[in-house]
Amino acid sequence: MQPFKYTRATDVAGATRAVSANKDARFLGGGTNLLDLMREGVESPSELVDIATLNLTQIRSVDGGLSIGALAKNTDTANHPLVRKNYPMLTQAILAGASPQIRNMATNGGNLLQRTRCSYFYDVSMPCNKRQPGSGCGAMEGINRNHAVFGWSDKCIAVHPSDMCVALVALDAVVKVQDATGKERSIPFAEFHRLPADSPEVDNTLKQGELITAIQLPKSNLAANSYYLKIRDRSSYAFALVSVAAGLVIRDNVIREVRVAMGGVAHKPWRAAEAEKYLNGKAATDENFAAAAEAEMKAAKPFEHNRFKVELGKRAIVHALRRATKTAAA
Ligand SMILES: Cc1cc2nc3c(=O)[nH]c(=O)nc-3n(C[C@H](O)[C@H](O)[C@H](O)COP(=O)(O)OP(=O)(O)OC[C@H]3O[C@@H](n4cnc5c(N)ncnc54)[C@H](O)[C@@H]3O)c2cc1C
Ligand code: SF4
Repeated sequence: MQPFKYTRATDVAGATRAVSANKDARFLGGGTNLLDLMREGVESPSELVDIATLNLTQIRSVDGGLSIGALAKNTDTANHPLVRKNYPMLTQAILAGASPQIRNMATNGGNLLQRTRCSYFYDVSMPCNKRQPGSGCGAMEGINRNHAVFGWSDKCIAVHPSDMCVALVALDAVVKVQDATGKERSIPFAEFHRLPADSPEVDNTLKQGELITAIQLPKSNLAANSYYLKIRDRSSYAFALVSVAAGLVIRDNVIREVRVAMGGVAHKPWRAAEAEKYLNGKAATDENFAAAAEAEMKAAKPFEHNRFKVELGKRAIVHALRRATKTAAA
């Protein structure tokens, strides 16, 4: 590991000033991803600015919705009574990730910014355009079982690993950020992460030195009638092969509102817009769920080892919608 400078920030202004003044500086949240990347030689920041003790941990009601501090721990967020009651999909998604020990350390801001788990990205002896732009993509012709079926480019086919982010994109969350001048920005969740295109080294739309301060959830009619389904190789310490966050509002047996998002299928948490379009105004039946899943997965472009994700994705959409419907009817 390369030597680096370590400082502990005492306020947001100081933290953002330090990281915007040095393009090789990084914020340190819980460290559960960044420190691993440093140990593996994937990232070598010259400076870490520890933000863990900043006062950004509150979870509180705002305008009928919820504001979740960027430095609240994943465990505290998942178990907060307002999250459990009004956004159970988010509780389920967070608790489906990592392990209790890691969730106790991991912060919400860090969860959004965790990097892909593509094994070629972690192996510094292999080509990887995300780690080293221009070096090639080891996964494209290699073992691509865990990789994308939507939105990939000829430069990168990695997927975003977060479970929490799949629920957040389904819930139309907004990411609040602040820069070194004190200027605040609100980024709609669907625009926070990006597809790889020609620059897979850029995961998101944050600028150097911008700090995530909070995640806001709007009031949601469907949040209480929702379900997060994660399909993985084993039940702990495993990232999603495919996951689905689904939420519905059903009145008179007609779907009035619907949200479907997927994980494990793209470089960003994937909003299943085709499935939603199909379901709006229709009856909540298995036939319609299957047709919606068909409509969504039609555009999938799999690779040699991940063709199974197309059928798995369809079944996962149907199953998640069915479970969410049962909650809605209860
Ligand atoms: C064994 C293992 C299994 C895991 N399994 C899963 C899983 O199944 N599902 C899942 O979703 N996740 C999983 N994870 C990932 C885990 O959720 C993330 O490591 C964690 O959420 C990162 O949070 P952190 O606070 O530790 O981030 P850090 O490691 O501290 O930081 C990550 C990145 O975010 C930046 N950052 C942190 N906070 C901010 C902020 N407020 N503003 C701007 N930048 C910031 C840092 O500079 C860094 O670049 C797993 C991790 C491990 C080690
Ligand atoms: S898929 Fe992306 S992260 Fe993985 S090797 Fe290719 S460029 Fe690197």
